[in-house]
Amino acid sequence: MKVLVATEKPFAKVAVDGIRKEIEAAGFELALLEKYTDKAQLLDAVKDANAIIIRSDIVDAEVLDAAKELKIVVRAGAGYDNVDLAAATAHNVCVMNTPGQNSNAVAELALGMMVYAVRNFYNGTSGTELMGKKLGIHAYGNVGRNVARVAKGFGMEVYAYDAFCPKEVIEKDGVKALDSAEELYKTCQVVSLHIPATAETKNSINYALLKDMPKGAMLVNTARKEVINEAELIKLMEDRADFKYITDIMPAANAEFAEKFAGRYFSTPKKMGAQTAEANINAGIAAAQQIVGFLKDGCEKFRVNK
Ligand code: NAD
Repeated sequence: MKVLVATEKPFAKVAVDGIRKEIEAAGFELALLEKYTDKAQLLDAVKDANAIIIRSDIVDAEVLDAAKELKIVVRAGAGYDNVDLAAATAHNVCVMNTPGQNSNAVAELALGMMVYAVRNFYNGTSGTELMGKKLGIHAYGNVGRNVARVAKGFGMEVYAYDAFCPKEVIEKDGVKALDSAEELYKTCQVVSLHIPATAETKNSINYALLKDMPKGAMLVNTARKEVINEAELIKLMEDRADFKYITDIMPAANAEFAEKFAGRYFSTPKKMGAQTAEANINAGIAAAQQIVGFLKDGCEKFRVNK
């Protein structure tokens, strides 16, 4: 069995070593396609692969057509909107992610960005504190839970809304569960976004939702840029001089945000929520273990195209 690691942005060496150890211990062969610059290289590399580990790499119908021997794709990470799930299902290919492996890394970044923003991007002027502020966690999944844990350490009052997670589960963590996204945004001065990008959530963070946030509002996005209605966010920030937008996923209109909202807008230069040595190693090794479990024992625990 041949397992291909296809990463435009490669894993750290220590993560590749860990993946190799898992794959070779199972008696499989590991192939690497790192830092590829052209889709043709990917199409060529997948030809004889039985399994593929990817990061943000795009696996679409063309890649699946080229991968005649493919049984499984594992996205080392949480969001799998870079894989065409319908096409994978049509090709009889199992798709998995590695939930939870990078959540602490993303949560630490979210809180770090909040501190950076309330301290005026460390520009030497007097800022505010997070302690006592109401934090709304929009989606209480793996990252949201870690954000709650860290935010409580800062002394924030933590609220959450999740469309699918039962309120009792949220409240067991000492977090106040709310009934709707609208209620969350009305209640909380700081909202941290953790919804996945789906047909339902794309463009859902819009003017109507954000306009009722309390004075001094801040939206922190470590989820996906697609969930933001950028045109409406720009309009809102034009109408509300107190509103800050801090993101780990650069908007398409980055230049416009930066020019219009200096001092209340920040984007990382490229998505770095999961860019830690620990998250890299955890997600890479989990991906390798899930492939071994699937190919040897048929384990589909983390399958996302059910
Ligand atoms: P997760 O799957 O553990 O949690 C997602 C949560 O969203 C679930 O609890 C689910 O019930 C909830 N949800 C789904 N649709 C919803 C909706 N319409 N309204 C409210 N809640 C909804 O995922 P996670 O590990 O917490 O990651 C969350 C997202 O963060 C990922 O989908 C990914 O897009 C993004 N992410 C970004 C980085 C980064 O580098 N910045 C890294 C990891 C994840």
